Amino acid sequence: METDVLIIGSGAAGMYAAIAAARSGARVLVADRSLIGRGGATVMAQMTVAVALGEETPDHWEHHLSDTLKAGRGLCEPALSQLLCEDAPECIRQMDEWGVGWARAASHIRQVQAPGHDRPRCVYVDFVNTGPAVSKTLRAQLQRMPEIRRTGDLLVSDLALDGERCTGAWAVHVPTGKTVPISAKATIVATGGLTRLYARNSASLNMGGDGYALALRAGAELIDMEFVQFFPIGHLAPRMVGMDPIMWDPFRYKLGGRLLNAGMEEFLAEEGKYTSVRDRATQAILKEVAEGRGTPHGGVWLSFKHCSAAGLRAAFGPVIERLAANGIDLTRDLIEVAPIAHYHMGGIRVDADMRTGVPGLFAAGEAVGGANGANRLSGNAISEAFTFGRRAGLRAAQLAARSRMPSLRESEKAAAAFPDINPAAEIVKLQQVMNEHVGPLRSAAGLQDALQRVLDLREACGALPAPHGLDPRWIDLHDLRNMRLVAECVTRAALDRTESRGAHQRADFPEASDAWQRHQRIRLSGGSVRIEG
Ligand SMILES: Cc1cc2nc3c(=O)[nH]c(=O)nc-3n(C[C@H](O)[C@H](O)[C@H](O)COP(=O)(O)OP(=O)(O)OC[C@H]3O[C@@H](n4cnc5c(N)ncnc54)[C@H](O)[C@@H]3O)c2cc1C
Repeated sequence: METDVLIIGSGAAGMYAAIAAARSGARVLVADRSLIGRGGATVMAQMTVAVALGEETPDHWEHHLSDTLKAGRGLCEPALSQLLCEDAPECIRQMDEWGVGWARAASHIRQVQAPGHDRPRCVYVDFVNTGPAVSKTLRAQLQRMPEIRRTGDLLVSDLALDGERCTGAWAVHVPTGKTVPISAKATIVATGGLTRLYARNSASLNMGGDGYALALRAGAELIDMEFVQFFPIGHLAPRMVGMDPIMWDPFRYKLGGRLLNAGMEEFLAEEGKYTSVRDRATQAILKEVAEGRGTPHGGVWLSFKHCSAAGLRAAFGPVIERLAANGIDLTRDLIEVAPIAHYHMGGIRVDADMRTGVPGLFAAGEAVGGANGANRLSGNAISEAFTFGRRAGLRAAQLAARSRMPSLRESEKAAAAFPDINPAAEIVKLQQVMNEHVGPLRSAAGLQDALQRVLDLREACGALPAPHGLDPRWIDLHDLRNMRLVAECVTRAALDRTESRGAHQRADFPEASDAWQRHQRIRLSGGSVRIEG
């Protein structure tokens, strides 16, 4: 295949990038290992999008920026945070024109208060439908633009290089196992985050950090890899089927709710409201559990007992029915919640034009690191995907307009043999190790242990053999290989950062240190992970 701009991943970032690139005159190919617009986090997002629209109360992007920098605990890349906050209003209004259906009061777009924002700033479609509506709106735009070719079931396994320049990618057509070379004048990695690395996560199967591994192997740098955001109130118990583990967040937006320890004491100074930012709430929950005040399954209680049956039904009608089908009655029952891997603040290092250090290679969305520093505010991730996608699409199209179509050099990977492991089983073990030792509370001993286990897998995850036909084992090996590399980056960065800051908490270094108010950058050198900074 040949294209001016290749976009890897079709979440909000990839689709927004495609529209921007096509509007700038480029021919675009969007490739996704899943179905277009249905594979990653965007379609799963339930709730809110942060933007200084000033529709509910007067606002300005500089206020949004100031809150974002504060939440990032001194580690935001200011130019990226500014791009997110400054460009978000235009993207949100554009989405409105495209018919996303932001919720409205009589005469204005509704904006609600979320923790860490200094005023009501978060727009939404419906409290459980924002992501699907965003995804559907962007898919509809893509369908209207003949310059954009969309291909699902195409897994990008490596970026193509000519010297140091990115010239497209090598992909695998999942149903047939055929290798597909894609020549591109400019390439954008929009593959989302890495939360599949953790046994307890809120993600889909496609979020094992492919983009980070692709970028690293192509010579790009990663930044802030130790900052994995844990969503404080992931569902823990009772068993619930067919519901999202982070569904309690919309409930808290609308109804408040009390977080209680085993002694039925409210341990966050919230008084039933929803005010604590994510890193603080996560730490507070872990502290209750560590000090013996946790619930039977190792979390804390969440109570909506202050709500009447009618009030619950008015706020969440059909969801209440589904809870009832699971035997849960919120007027009577308490829920157990605990932190769950949710989002990644770190990622590919880019400048404000979304350029990586590799000529011809851009990145966008959650795949990018730096905009949210050590902790992300609610709603900033979708804004990040829109604004970074738009900027990347524009700049990639400009580069393509002055470039010639490259031809790909043949891949050399065919010779490797399939290793003597069960990759699916190894993925499960890796997820458990990451959950146990590289989760929201870390220590040198646990991190060392995790690093050793990650390194033990290195040999089996060396070169990737060429796929032969439809082979789920090959996909598992591909995923394991990327997850292992990315897990090594997260673990090493977490081990080196001997302080606690935002989402990175060390039991053995509980305080933040001024000396650590700096980023760690990671690159591959001679095939090994190297940290600088
Ligand atoms: C359950 C949940 C709820 C959330 N709620 C909110 C919210 O309310 N507000 C908010 O701001 N944020 C929320 N977030 C975070 C936010 O949704 C994401 O950060 C954002 O959608 C990321 O968009 P993206 O386009 O960068 O990546 P994604 O939407 O994750 O898309 C990445 C795409 O890349 C594809 N891909 C990956 N690897 C490859 C490969 N090798 N080859 C080809 N394709 C590949 C995937 O299949 C996927 O389609 C939520 C996240 C989750 C998981």
